[in-house]
Amino acid sequence: MFFLRKRGFENRQALVGHAQAFGHEIGFVFFAGGVVAHVANLILVSTSVKGAHVRLSARILFSETGEIGDSGLLRRGRGVVIRGMIVGVHPLAGFDKLLHYRVPEHMRADMQVGSLVRVPIVNRMHLGLVGEIGAPKDFPVEKLKIVAQLIYSFPALTRDLLELARWMSAYYACPLDAVIETMLPAPVRNGAGIKEEKLLAIGKKLSAEELEQLTKRAPQQAKLYRLLEQQFKPQKKSLVLTRLGATAAVVSALVKRGAVREIVQRVERVAYDDDWSTGEIVAALPPTLNPEQLACADALTASLNEQKFNVTLLHGVTGSGKTEVYLRAIHDALASGGGVVFLVPEVALTPQTVARLRGRLEAIAPNHKTVVWHSHLSEGERFDGWLALATGEARVVVGARSAIFAPVRDLRLIVVDEEHEPAYKQDETPRYHGRDVAVMRAKLAGAVCVLGSATPSLESYSNARSGRYRLLQLTQRVDSRSLPAIDVVDMRIEIMRSRGLTTLSRTLVNAMQARFERKEQTILFINRRGYSSSMMCTECGHIEVCEHCSISMTYHRTDEKLRCHLCGAEHQAPMTCPKCRSPKIRWRGLGTQRVEEAVRRVLPRATIERMDTDTMSKKNRFREVLGHFRAGKIDVLVGTQMIGKGLDFPNVTLVGLVDADISMHIPDFRANERTFQLLVQVAGRSGRGDRAGEVVVQTFTPQAEAIQFSRHADFVGFAEAELKLRHDFKYPPYRHLIHHIFRGPNPEKLKFYAEQWAKRVEAVLGDRVELRGPSPSPIEKIKDEYRWQLWYFTTQVTKVVADLAKLRGEFTWPDDMIQVLDVDPTNLT
Ligand code: ADP
Ligand code: ZN
Ligand code: ZN
Repeated sequence: MFFLRKRGFENRQALVGHAQAFGHEIGFVFFAGGVVAHVANLILVSTSVKGAHVRLSARILFSETGEIGDSGLLRRGRGVVIRGMIVGVHPLAGFDKLLHYRVPEHMRADMQVGSLVRVPIVNRMHLGLVGEIGAPKDFPVEKLKIVAQLIYSFPALTRDLLELARWMSAYYACPLDAVIETMLPAPVRNGAGIKEEKLLAIGKKLSAEELEQLTKRAPQQAKLYRLLEQQFKPQKKSLVLTRLGATAAVVSALVKRGAVREIVQRVERVAYDDDWSTGEIVAALPPTLNPEQLACADALTASLNEQKFNVTLLHGVTGSGKTEVYLRAIHDALASGGGVVFLVPEVALTPQTVARLRGRLEAIAPNHKTVVWHSHLSEGERFDGWLALATGEARVVVGARSAIFAPVRDLRLIVVDEEHEPAYKQDETPRYHGRDVAVMRAKLAGAVCVLGSATPSLESYSNARSGRYRLLQLTQRVDSRSLPAIDVVDMRIEIMRSRGLTTLSRTLVNAMQARFERKEQTILFINRRGYSSSMMCTECGHIEVCEHCSISMTYHRTDEKLRCHLCGAEHQAPMTCPKCRSPKIRWRGLGTQRVEEAVRRVLPRATIERMDTDTMSKKNRFREVLGHFRAGKIDVLVGTQMIGKGLDFPNVTLVGLVDADISMHIPDFRANERTFQLLVQVAGRSGRGDRAGEVVVQTFTPQAEAIQFSRHADFVGFAEAELKLRHDFKYPPYRHLIHHIFRGPNPEKLKFYAEQWAKRVEAVLGDRVELRGPSPSPIEKIKDEYRWQLWYFTTQVTKVVADLAKLRGEFTWPDDMIQVLDVDPTNLT
């Protein structure tokens, strides 16, 4: 888009002209002087006005989006005003298309890429997002409809977010409008208006004479002026008018005269003093960084000063004070006028951590609010937080996965804490990974991205190893105490001793009883995936593993078969252990309930609380239990990993992991990695106060690498060993994995089409993709819907996703079949 301006032209004056720039003829130009809002360049061109035959020298102003020649303004008309601005809009209407509209003059000043608009489609109004400014290539501009409404005066998506949406749409093979909808909070998606109130304050002070005159001529005005004069702060207009029984005209007159100012202010629902900031009083004073922290912080400062895209992996052992390093970086980013996104896993968003962070952040930037983004926000609260960021009132957001889409302006820093957390991956469309999206957004925004963890994902670690990311390390705990001792209990021996299945080993029971007597607390972890159905021999620890894929086979009850999820290999489920011939085969893990009962038997007087997704479905229950635990009202907390992250309980001196094996033997090539992460993170939870901690790990396979390396929290040792294995099997990070899921009511049909499709993919993409399957999904049927699946391995993920998407569009699918692509899946079970 561009506008033509000549000195002396008045606002809104229109000109149809014939302009040349750089010697190129560029057609007829419409000009509206007042509209030049965001301008990048200023060039002199010559212009001749048709009809009037005037030649004049004029300035042509480009917005940064427009190029000469691709402008929507350039259409001829017969010496009358033709058109101004044309925008291409992505409608949020369930289809992927860019539609063009003309922009009425009064909207032009605020209209920009990323603006949220209401536009007519067929006979209805829909919301849409401005994706480009400029005319369509193949549609007569005269026939374009007109934008009906510009919802906000600021863009709903920043430029980097819009580009990010496009990237996500391509990378995750998901419609653009679905991505855009994910990026916008529900009220914005519904075009919610902004609630504003008007305030009145004294403008220009009137002299005594003036006031006296006013009192005679317009007593109402004088009364209002006097009232305001006595106030310290601006007053609500509606209130003032009611109190004086005056009309709005009285205010208008005073405003015109300059004696009173009218201030428009947004009404906010959250005062930012919800219960997330109460709780314990936290010291806002930063500790002095130790030399290791300082070195990391300085390195980040240097990156921030460069104002260029950069990714740093901060590997710091548990308790090494990573948060302080992030905070220094955040401070620097804010001080240089930039914005910040700070991502944490949802479960880490406890009132304590949020209060701590908010306290510190608000001390860093006293004039700026910190927006907190979590799943317990009401729609109104979320909307207010979003608005504060979109309008630039707030520049920092702390939140879970979806906070990566917060419309933070001038983004300069993204921190992803606990970057290895699978919770960053969204399990529904768009199936994005928050960490990967964070890296991409940083790239698009030219920002610095910090990924932090005590147990980095092997993806990130290998990026650091190859030099793509920079690696910074914190090797010492802040209190210089060594990590707690890890006691590995061999459950095979335990079972022999007790002649049967035990849930809790002698070691663990003794340790728990000792804690109870000393009034210290215990956390018992059970694997979230305790119900996965792999097969394990309790005598020798043997697990049936697929020889092609090196992941454990899954037991399928319906036909009593063991099957590999990746390649579909299958055989009859054995009745005895194939290795030691023992009949003691266990199919499932333990549930939290069973463990809770076992604890009750050995600690009858203790207060025990269970925490898993079943018991925690009620809102606030999670926070309530954690509150009680912190207050010392609970002796033993039994739960899944959800209690593990970001929690800091000084009185917890014992952590038990009841069945370390389950996580190792889920049919997932990341099983070892998950187990190692779990063990190290769990150990890091114990003994954080001034008391030493102890960790008890129960396992049937104590020799496993994940367990051995975790005893000394040897991340690098583990990573090197595991990467070698991944390399041998060409698993991620050496190749990308794509999961294709087929669903439908008829299993034969699913099988048939999945196989036909696989053949087609093999024929077209066989040189770039390795296929495994198709095979029935681990859970073959959910709510009467059957499921099949197919896996693709590739080194060229971007290209392959695009090809798959295209191929998928050309393939004839039956109507009753749904298929979904999941790129870089994290959940293989
Ligand atoms: P991490 O995230 O690396 O596990 P945290 O950032 O939670 O560790 O820090 C652990 C504890 O140490 C926190 O209570 C924090 O306030 C404290 N801490 C961090 N840095 C210092 C320091 N330089 N001096 C004293 N205490 C510190
Ligand atoms: Zn055995
Ligand atoms: Zn296999």
